[in-house]
Amino acid sequence: MSDKCYGWVVACIVAAVLAWVVPSYAARQHAHVHGVGQINIVVDGTQATVELHAPAEAIYGFEHQARSKADEEKRAAALARLREQIGAMVIFAADRGCQYTTQKMAVVEAVEHERAQGPEQGGPAKKSGEHRAVHAEFAVICDKPLAGSQVKFGISKIFPGLKTVRVQALSGARQIGAEITGDKGSLTL
Ligand SMILES: [Zn+2]
Repeated sequence: MSDKCYGWVVACIVAAVLAWVVPSYAARQHAHVHGVGQINIVVDGTQATVELHAPAEAIYGFEHQARSKADEEKRAAALARLREQIGAMVIFAADRGCQYTTQKMAVVEAVEHERAQGPEQGGPAKKSGEHRAVHAEFAVICDKPLAGSQVKFGISKIFPGLKTVRVQALSGARQIGAEITGDKGSLTL
């Protein structure tokens, strides 16, 4: 791994830790757009990390704090689905022999308080400006190097509320970006 790449990964890990430890760190970032998620892929030879950031509404259907048992169950089921289905959501080329591992996985919620009073983009105005996001990180270990291989997506198939994902990938010295809507399109690492 080059020094440059290493520095980027460290910065990313630090940011992730800060977002975990200090929820207000995430709050200062930006209010998310419902239906739109972000995926970051960092490739290092035969390994990769996949980060998913998505509005909670797109994952488990609401953004308020879970108040009832039904809320809790809905959230737990959706997060389990995310854990179990990530391999069908961000799909690495079959010939690379990749396995998702749960070693580095964390599912957290960040509260993003929106202070603006206007209605949310694309939806009706809500009484509360409360937003929650699901952040998940996965480790991927493959038999063969990932460089040059194609990544496909099945995100909307698993979570129909997540219509568009902005994908950023770092593969060796290359940085690749793509916007995937309705699981159409692919990205070459
Ligand atoms: Zn929201």
